[in-house]
Amino acid sequence: MTRTAMLKDILAELHSCEKCGLCHGRTQPVLGAGVPNSKIVIVGEAPGKNEDEQGKPFVGRSGKLLDQMLAEVGLSREKNVFITNIVKCRPPENRDPLPEECAACREYLDRILAIVDPKVILCVGRISAQRLFDPNFRVTRQHGETREVDGRLVMGTFHPAAVLRNPSYRELMEADLQKLASIIQETEVLVD
Ligand code: SF4
Repeated sequence: MTRTAMLKDILAELHSCEKCGLCHGRTQPVLGAGVPNSKIVIVGEAPGKNEDEQGKPFVGRSGKLLDQMLAEVGLSREKNVFITNIVKCRPPENRDPLPEECAACREYLDRILAIVDPKVILCVGRISAQRLFDPNFRVTRQHGETREVDGRLVMGTFHPAAVLRNPSYRELMEADLQKLASIIQETEVLVD
């Protein structure tokens, strides 16, 4: 079975998932998008309004900014990145997903990571980094730090929505992405 087929199977499961209360408000779940054998997976927080409507991750203003910033360091969801979120259904009023919702949805994230099998995980935003990098992650203090978790290099950085709200974060996030790109180049992570 190909990776694409396995991801499609998970998407079918998401459509009928009722493991947490977020199922009640979704138009549709958002599994993720990108290259299914990417060496880098980017993990955000949760689908927002546009994502919920289109069934794709990071398609609004913050998604465009993320794509732009990734392109600056040679990364894109068309070429070498897979993008997903901690929870697959939109929280009401775009609130943060609750710990129990993140826990309920974790199985799907773990299965996606097992299928794509990246070498590097980039957590964008506090919610994602607290789940995958450090439970006490503080983005302003720890962005750009890396550590190995379960054999993968993990880094936390700003969420692009935070950069839109506070443009002074942009330079910091760009530096984090540049650092990630350098690590990737040094370790030839993108070379199959
Ligand atoms: S957020 Fe995850 S666990 Fe909750 S209903 Fe959606 S797919 Fe299921």
